[in-house]
This record gives sequence, C-alpha cells and structure tokens, in this order.
Amino acid sequence: MTGYLLKNCAAVAVDEGKGPVVHRNVDLLTKGPAIQAIGENLGATALAAGTTVQDATGWFVYPGLVNTHHHFFQCFVRNRADLDWTKLSVIAWLDRIYPIFSQLNEECFYHSSVTAMAEMIKHGGTTAFDHQYNFPQHAGKRLIDRQFEAADLFGMRFHAGRGGNTLPKSEGSTIPDEMLETTDEFIADCARLIDTYHDTSPFSMRQVVVAPCQPVNCYRETFVESVALARDRGVMMHTHVGEGESPVIQARHGMRTVDYLEELGFAGPDAFYAHCWELTHDELKTMAASGTGVAHCPEPVYLVGAEVTDIPAMAAFGLRIGIGCDGAASNDNSNLMHCLHSAYMLQCLVSSTRAHPVPRPVDFLGYSTAGGASLLGRADIGRLAPGMAADLFAIDTRRMDYVGTRHDPLSLIPRVGIGMATDMTMINGRIVWQKGEFAGLDEAKLFADAEAALATVEF
Ligand SMILES: [Zn+2]
Repeated sequence: MTGYLLKNCAAVAVDEGKGPVVHRNVDLLTKGPAIQAIGENLGATALAAGTTVQDATGWFVYPGLVNTHHHFFQCFVRNRADLDWTKLSVIAWLDRIYPIFSQLNEECFYHSSVTAMAEMIKHGGTTAFDHQYNFPQHAGKRLIDRQFEAADLFGMRFHAGRGGNTLPKSEGSTIPDEMLETTDEFIADCARLIDTYHDTSPFSMRQVVVAPCQPVNCYRETFVESVALARDRGVMMHTHVGEGESPVIQARHGMRTVDYLEELGFAGPDAFYAHCWELTHDELKTMAASGTGVAHCPEPVYLVGAEVTDIPAMAAFGLRIGIGCDGAASNDNSNLMHCLHSAYMLQCLVSSTRAHPVPRPVDFLGYSTAGGASLLGRADIGRLAPGMAADLFAIDTRRMDYVGTRHDPLSLIPRVGIGMATDMTMINGRIVWQKGEFAGLDEAKLFADAEAALATVEF
C-alpha cells in the first residue's frame, strides 16, 4: 500500500475533534487513503514499503477544503459585462441567463466540471459538492454521470447534488420550459444516481444528494417526494433558501421558506441550505433546533449586492456552517480558499451592525473544512488526525508573501488570504497537484478540450 511521509512540516493544523491546533516541526504519515500518524521523527521508525518521503520543510499543512455549494456548469458563463447584476433587475438577469444556460450540451457539463474542479484543487479543495439543477431537454440525463467522470479524472472526492425544477413559468416560476422536469422524472433520476453511485463506505469518493433547486421553482410535491426518497435511501438533502424568495413562498403557502420546509420535513441533520441571507433570527433558531445546516457563499455579495449573511448569529445559535463558492453566475471563481478569506473579511466589514461577535478567523477555517464535512454527513474528512482521510494541502511559507504572518498558521488563510496555488494538494492519500502540475494530466490539453467544448455553443 502506498503512503507519504511529509517530513518536517513547519506547522500542521491538527484537529482531534475539538477544533484545530497547531503542531510545529512534525511529520505527517499517510497510508493508503488515511492519515496514519502526526508527530515528531516518524521517519525514525521503519516505514512501510511503498512510502514516499517528501521534504515538507517550511510547509504549513491544512485539512483539504470542502466546498458545500457550487454550480459547475456556470463556469462557462463567466466574466460577462452583459450579465452585470448591478445593472439588471433579478427578473431581467434571469431572462438573459436562462436562455444561455439552456444551450449547454453534455460536453459542456463535463468540461465545465473539469474546469471548476481544477481551480478548486489548485487552491486546496479536496471535496466538491455541486448543485447541478440544469437539465436542458436536448442535453439528456447523463449530465451528473459525466460529472462523476470528471471527478475521477482528477481523483477528487465528489458529492453530486441532483437538482431540478418542476414548476412552469405559467405558474409563477422563473424557469424556461426546456429546463423543466416532472417530479416523477426528477425523483426517478435521483434514485438511478443513488443506485449507481452512492457509496457510504469509509473514505467514499462518490455520494449523491437529493437537491431540488429551490422551493420557489418547484411544486410542493417535488419536495415531499424528495424527502421520502432521501430518507428511504439515507442520503442528504439540499436546496436554495433565503435568497429573497420568502415573500413569494409566504403568498403561495401561507408561511415563509424555513417554516415551509420544516413542515415538509425537508429539514434536519440530513439537510443543508445554500445562502440563508434573508432569514430572521427566529428562523435561524428554527434551523439550529432541527439541526439543519447552512452553506454560506460569501462572494455573491460582491456581484449581486445582496446583504451580508449574519454568520455571527448563526454561530451564536449553534447552526452547522459550511462555506461554498456558489456558481459563476454570482461568483466568477471556484477558489474556495479565496471565498474563505472573503467570508471572514465581509463579517469584519459589517461587525458594528451585528448583535453577536464575529467568529475568530480559525472558526472560518473550521467552517470550510470540518464544517463542510458535517454538512455533507461525513465523519471521515475535514480534519487532520490519525484515522481521518488523507485530504490536505500544503503551502510553502518560505516566501516574502508570508513574512510576519507565520506565528499564527490557523488565521493565515482567513485573515491574510493566499494569492497563489497550493504547493501540494492530496486527496484520499494521493497527490493530485504538486509543483504546478496535475498528477498524470496535461493542463494544456484540459484547457484546449474545455475551450473546444465551450466553442460548441454560441452565447
Ligand atoms: Zn446556488
């Protein structure tokens, strides 16, 4: 069995379950998919055959980042001035963006997933959750199958959110007809994906999440059936909540979104919602009481101009919190390390308006690692400790960028920010990125193939 001995790490963010603490000048030993030991002079003992010794002098080693909300397909619609949220109403923006989304074909879904995962891995991402709700009729049903294929290409741990929309525009949704599915179609494909891919074994690389896109664009029965399927198969549930839709849900169903989902049973330790920026403190307490988690996506605030989510209140009320990039329609990057920095800085910006104190920088590191793992229902990832998955990344801090910062490794990313790719990213005990290259892959070819797929559609 192969393994690595990361020799003489300058600092390792070790977490035995009580939050990360810094261990300095230690070695980290992996065996197969797991961390075997973290401590001093591990190389002094006989190493198992197949162990590769890697000099880690100067390295700060962190648990791999867990992305809890994204829409990979949107990577093909980035950096467009004509889709500027600050100059368009939400309705006008939707009217422009959905005709673009609906043109994407199967190759686009595959190569946009490769594009997003590549950026994530370069910046310390080791587990990706994607909320894939775009199923144009012409593109077929194998879009998430192709995403699993993309994850396999890199060796990325992938949780696929099978999204979907069922409510037609004529009944008040914002979804064009060519992107609609029936509830039966949606549930049947969720069940197929669970049967085909969902793996609950330790260090699983593939899981499936039942994830109807958002309550405002689905029939009530879609959520009822989603709960029944998810509970029957023991998988997680996910959707968008609290991004401005609560008045619409109130008008339709007589209650705001959080209460509506609680009533339907789409809440609990096996459910997590993206965003939640418009929720009241009472609604946050409701989520905390049921154990429902939140995938906080800080960077859409910049482009969308939405309010800054009240993370201090969420933390004070005991919500489980993860961090997400969100799709490129509202955040043009897939760099979760960057988002982690933004999450902390945005809370500092508005701290004087809050009833609760801003969590510490290290707490934000926790949200994007162990917090994300919790949202995805994983006890085997998100922390660096013996027995946990060997999902980690390293930054060589012997650079001018880090002079004056090295005394506090746990705050480095949230507070200082990291402007470059990692020096190494390891997933499931395998180095997938090191010295600027993906293991076994030619980035120039990945780039050319993605550009070719992009060229098959005209936006
Ligand atoms: Zn989203």
